[in-house]
Amino acid sequence: MDENEVIIFDTTLRDGEQSPGASLDVPQKIMIAQQLARLNVDVIEAGFPVSSPVQFEAVKSIAEEVQGPVIAGLARAMKLDIDSCAQALKTAKRPRIHTFIATSQVHLEKKFRKSEDEILAMAYEAVKYAKNYFNDIEFSPEDSARTGKQFLFRIIEAAIDAGATVINIPDTVGYSFPDEFGGLIREIREKVPNMSKAILSVHCHNDLGLAVANSLSAILNGAQQVECTINGIGERAGNASLEEIVMTLETRKDAFKRRTRIQTEEIYRTSKMVSHLTGIIIQPNKAIVGANAFAHESGIHQDAVLKDKRTYEIMTPESIGLPSNRIVLGRHSGRHGLKSRLETLGYQMATEELNQIYEEFLKIADKKKEVFDEDLEVIIENNIYGSRKELELTYFHISSGNQLVPTATIGLKKDDKIYQEAACGDGPVDAAFKAIDKITNMTVELGDYQLHAVTGGKDALGEVTIKIIKNGWNIVGRGASTDVIEASIKAYLDAINKLFIKQRKHNDHN
Ligand SMILES: [Zn+2]
Repeated sequence: MDENEVIIFDTTLRDGEQSPGASLDVPQKIMIAQQLARLNVDVIEAGFPVSSPVQFEAVKSIAEEVQGPVIAGLARAMKLDIDSCAQALKTAKRPRIHTFIATSQVHLEKKFRKSEDEILAMAYEAVKYAKNYFNDIEFSPEDSARTGKQFLFRIIEAAIDAGATVINIPDTVGYSFPDEFGGLIREIREKVPNMSKAILSVHCHNDLGLAVANSLSAILNGAQQVECTINGIGERAGNASLEEIVMTLETRKDAFKRRTRIQTEEIYRTSKMVSHLTGIIIQPNKAIVGANAFAHESGIHQDAVLKDKRTYEIMTPESIGLPSNRIVLGRHSGRHGLKSRLETLGYQMATEELNQIYEEFLKIADKKKEVFDEDLEVIIENNIYGSRKELELTYFHISSGNQLVPTATIGLKKDDKIYQEAACGDGPVDAAFKAIDKITNMTVELGDYQLHAVTGGKDALGEVTIKIIKNGWNIVGRGASTDVIEASIKAYLDAINKLFIKQRKHNDHN
């Protein structure tokens, strides 16, 4: 590899998908993987095949359909995992098995009850075994940042001896800080005798808000690959954010003298898609992709930016693909205009899907004059789920006011039969949910409810994100409409439909 290059390993679909509340189905994962390929990431970690049939299916489909990047799958240092991972990656042009084992003292004692030598032997065997399938094998000593250095150096050397092509150093619990983590990377380079035979990678978590800083410090100290996610999503406080690392390297070329192959103009689009499909909303002040990242509020700043952008902008909004003048579609845009706009947004549609989306588009265009990209994304998402709805909203009627008890009547369709119920509640939304509960004959706990306007203006599409809790599962549902009560009902039904799917899958496997 070119020594000035930093390899971008994206784990949005594996670590990112472990974010609380995020669960993607296979078509959504393929859609994101395809966008990651357009973003030109070097490696896509597509999932953890042995962990569930959905994960297996997702990795397999991405391996089949997504061209360009290396496709990696995760596997514990066990034959069962490695076999499953290799099966899933069978058709990938450039497959990589990423195998890992925990190496810190606390994991050895509490998780495995095994000695260092036993763990080292397991790691060696796992890499050797994976090598039977493919050449490209990545090995991670999990919790490296809290692992005794002598043991860490020994296990890295053994993994490279067994044939590992990439050694990844995870700060699994986000415990390290930049000086310390950079120092560790430098020491690994200096003290592991065969280190030059493999690529050195890092994987940082954000528990102390230092994931990006630690990754950058590692790069300055010789790391050649960084593992990261779009919007920094991931376990707990998340992973290092891809867009922050890439744009730092880009903006501060003078200091880092390293580059990536990322198509930075695709960053904004990718970020939107991931936020949308996972339901994880981006905080407005988030670096690079937050809604305010390029907004100048103070009059003095605005004035200066108008005179010369460089006064307060260290990078341009265009460099991340933020549209400077928004393209707006309307009733008269036609099927062709819609299709080409969807393609620019990264969605390739079959004719049948396009027709379905066009119908929905017309309905929205009737209600509001201007249809924005964000509106289109909502339509697409509603239609991806369209085909597998068990319960569908047929009609609803609400009576509400400040002097009467809110009441809702709801009609739902299930297997071509309409079920109707009415209920009272603390408010119109509560009444509607209670009426639905009567129809499903089931109660669920409501974890979270968020309403936000997808676009500006009084006629904006309102999007409701809801979290329901049942059997210990957290399920996110979303719904959108120009009417917030309808959006709430749709979100609730979306979550319940997902719950049904989950219950069926669960029963199939027990
Ligand atoms: Zn992780």
